Amino acid sequence: MTTQKPLLLALATGQASLLDEPVRMLIGGELADAASGATFPTYNPATGAVIANVAAGAAADVDRAVQAARAAFGHPTWAKLTPASRGELLWRLADLIQRDADVLARLETTNNGRPYRNTRNGDLPGIIKHFRYHAGWATKLHGTTVPVSTPNHFVYTVREPMGVCGCIIPWNYPLNMVSWKIAPALAAGNTVILKPAEETPLTALWIAELALEAGFPPGVVNVVTGMGETAGAALVAHPNVDKLAFTGSTAVGRKIVEAAAGNLKRISLELGGKSPNVIFADADVTAAARQAVWAILSNAGQNCCAGSRLFVQRHVADQVLDTVVSTMERLRVGNGLDPETQVGPLVSQEQLSRVSGFVAAGRDAGAELLLGGVRPAGVADGGFFLAPTVFGKVQDEMEIVREEIFGPVVCALEFDDWDELIARANDTPYGLASAIWTRDINKAHRFAQAIQAGTVWINTYNMFDPAAPFGGYKQSGYGREMGEAVYELYTQTKTVWVGLNGVR
Ligand code: NAP
Ligand code: MG
Repeated sequence: MTTQKPLLLALATGQASLLDEPVRMLIGGELADAASGATFPTYNPATGAVIANVAAGAAADVDRAVQAARAAFGHPTWAKLTPASRGELLWRLADLIQRDADVLARLETTNNGRPYRNTRNGDLPGIIKHFRYHAGWATKLHGTTVPVSTPNHFVYTVREPMGVCGCIIPWNYPLNMVSWKIAPALAAGNTVILKPAEETPLTALWIAELALEAGFPPGVVNVVTGMGETAGAALVAHPNVDKLAFTGSTAVGRKIVEAAAGNLKRISLELGGKSPNVIFADADVTAAARQAVWAILSNAGQNCCAGSRLFVQRHVADQVLDTVVSTMERLRVGNGLDPETQVGPLVSQEQLSRVSGFVAAGRDAGAELLLGGVRPAGVADGGFFLAPTVFGKVQDEMEIVREEIFGPVVCALEFDDWDELIARANDTPYGLASAIWTRDINKAHRFAQAIQAGTVWINTYNMFDPAAPFGGYKQSGYGREMGEAVYELYTQTKTVWVGLNGVR
């Protein structure tokens, strides 16, 4: 295989600001242009400039990748590999990610905008941990013996891989999303076709090259770059794909379920959220307010778990909002490659326009704009920036409270008592995450019982660990990633009956 890492390295190190050759896909261990020859531009969100043109894969390319993944799935170099060897490959991949962590973090920041201090010091160590955690699972996916009541029979189960897995991921945490999908899929012995988001195709390609370098056979990890409506849709509909793991919006998730019906491929969905972050008056109110800032501003609010509905007990509301606003005012918004930057740009002009539209809708509906809502001072002209934004005097039925904004915009809602709070916090089609800040241990656990969400944080926020399952209630999706639970998504159970009649 030839490598395109030098090309991507030039971008990551700033030696090139626009690549003069197109970035290619990785199919069956080979770099590949789209069959049509088409490309699409990808941007640096901090400047708005095009940084590369990327192969625009479509149905023909997806078909090639599916064939490569199917062939690899059945090939003895992968199919007959022992679980321990699969674990070793994953461990080696983690080593290579560690070796390349600086470059990967820079490339991620260049293509996604997220501050380098977060990609390098937060995401990369977490991703390395994630691969090592799943390396351990490769040897622990055992079946059971079953105590059947049928005479003269012995029954056991084995866990087998699903087969060829399509993985469609969003742009908000590209490297994390790659690792959440491929680490467990590979540990269980599947092969993978990744379709990264059109906005952020670059780091997935680097990881796929590292997988080859680690020793995964060609075709085990394939990346098809391209548009959701073409490449993504072709992967979802493909009759030779066994499993489709999707992370993205609830609207597209619904389309995926319909389009995958043809061969009844298995589906898992990690979708949007509108998470309640609740501060009671008996909390350490100042600490809770400071954390509320990061509950919404992590990744400039482009976070499926963002604490976008900030519920505050009425008699401490002014105190909380003063702290939130004064903390946000002091934050440095800018280019993520600047080490001082705390909040980066939004990922695209489209996302900036969408979020700005919500800000306008909030104002029109009568919400009080306490901070932001505008382009911050001192940022590059072409960059996709929005200042941290706080709305007060918000009503539950306003669009800014109902819809996932996916930007640096928090809505503060005041509440008086427990029953009212729980009813309002649960009054959303979403159910991804939630948080409560209180010193009352009973209240904290009662909240954990009453809230309809896949994750509850108590006196903390945005915490993740490879061992802790993560996923949605209600229209935030189904299936759990991470922890042992993720193997429900990437394995299937075979039951074996052994007749003992005639055995003496
Ligand atoms: P999106 O528009 O739903 O896109 C997600 C992925 O699906 C992209 O790769 C996209 O391709 C592709 N896609 C779009 N239309 C498709 C179709 N018809 N068939 C197949 N694939 C299609 O979401 P996004 O804007 O990238 O990401 C933001 C959303 O992701 C938010 O709602 C956020 O809450 C959610 N999210 C959830 C989690 C979680 O774990 N629950 C984590 C992160 C993000 P294109 O890039 O070409 O559009
Ligand atoms: Mg999109």
